[in-house]
Amino acid sequence: MSSLLDDAAKRASRYLDALPSRAVAPLPEAIARLQSLDEPLPEHPQAPDAILRRLDELGSPATSAMAGGRFFGFVIGGALPVTVAANWLATAWDQNAGGHGPAPGVAAFEHTALRWLLEILDLPRHAAGAFVTGATQANLCGLAAARHAVLKRAGWDVEADGLFGAPPITVIVSAEAHPTVIKALGVLGLGRSRVIRMGTDAQGRIRPEFLPPLAGPTILCLQAGNINTGAFDPFAVLCERAQAVGAWVHVDGAFGLWALAAPTLRHLCDGIDRADSWATDAHKWLNVPYDSGLAFVRDGEALRAAMSVTAAYLSPPGPRRVASDFTPELSRRARGVDVWSALSSLGRSGVAQMIERCCKHARRFARGLESAGYSILNDVVLNQVLVSFGDAAITRRVITELQAEGTCWCGVTEWQGQTAMRISVCSWATTDDDVELSLAAMLRIAARCGASA
Ligand SMILES: *Cc1c(COP(=O)(O)O)cnc(C)c1O
Repeated sequence: MSSLLDDAAKRASRYLDALPSRAVAPLPEAIARLQSLDEPLPEHPQAPDAILRRLDELGSPATSAMAGGRFFGFVIGGALPVTVAANWLATAWDQNAGGHGPAPGVAAFEHTALRWLLEILDLPRHAAGAFVTGATQANLCGLAAARHAVLKRAGWDVEADGLFGAPPITVIVSAEAHPTVIKALGVLGLGRSRVIRMGTDAQGRIRPEFLPPLAGPTILCLQAGNINTGAFDPFAVLCERAQAVGAWVHVDGAFGLWALAAPTLRHLCDGIDRADSWATDAHKWLNVPYDSGLAFVRDGEALRAAMSVTAAYLSPPGPRRVASDFTPELSRRARGVDVWSALSSLGRSGVAQMIERCCKHARRFARGLESAGYSILNDVVLNQVLVSFGDAAITRRVITELQAEGTCWCGVTEWQGQTAMRISVCSWATTDDDVELSLAAMLRIAARCGASA
């Protein structure tokens, strides 16, 4: 066992050490070699060290350097070294973190991690929290709690009786809602299309004047951090209007919620603490390994009612928290250990600096591209930059060539009818040098593609 784990650690270190000098996207040859996986199921056991060697030789070159400092796609982060190490140790423990009894160690680490999260995000300290796989699942949790609470107020027990014959729920989302919010609404029987979509402004923020008159069971979904622009909905005014009529306000803050942890950015979230539920990711801006999302719900009993394995009347709240009463999963890994290790190593100031550093890098990209004459399509309030290099065809060509050239990686998006390259800076690993190298590559390639300054 020991030599096997040592070998895995050596291979992982070698992989990570090589990241700064390799192309960010995998080379075509490495992808072509994956075809050798198209082989029959082995009839007989194989040696573990040979399996690891094959995984490394075939798998490592076929990765994108998402763990490095120059991957700017998809609003995702890397994984802080301490979180990788803690994750490995906790994997070796192989604890089932769903129940409390036989795994007191991980339950205690998760308990502390949740308390710290509520502190660093300055959310209501009594809110319930859940470690889930990602913001998709966190949105599902928040909206399941919402569904429970608004129907309970209307005299309906949705967990017991389902939605057939239930009072209708008005669901209001932004025209800019993330597709995973829509998916969660569909899974919960609230309908992907059966929603009111509110218009937004040029940054993708809900315009409060479009809020329809509210009555009856209502769920309002807001957003902290638009995946294109990074913009935040105006929480204070929307929460006030919604809560005056007893509506539930859910916030998708997959990455944007972390603005709360940074003194210079917190103002973007004004009023967000008045919401009823919040979804975020740890595997994005907190920079822990996948899969790690977080749901917070002010009325913890609503989340518990929606997620507990047994009916509420069968398991009255005991003195000890049963983690699986708050998550869709029963059995799961101890995700909170990674979060605990990240918060322990960074501390309050380290988290704030990491978030603010990413935003500073984003502003540098925007300045550099703009002063070369390219159009920045968004107000760079957070870590997101949208740049156009001319018409759609040229912008797409710059992105394709940039990805192939390998210095950095950015993706394509459409923003309000315009094709743009999206730069998302979320990684702890991104340095000033990474930004300068990447910016130089963008400008070099844009010039070569005949982009219009
Ligand atoms: C990434 C993202 C999600 C989905 O998160 P996963 O962790 O991929 O499930 C939801 N909302 C927003 C705004 C996101 O950026």
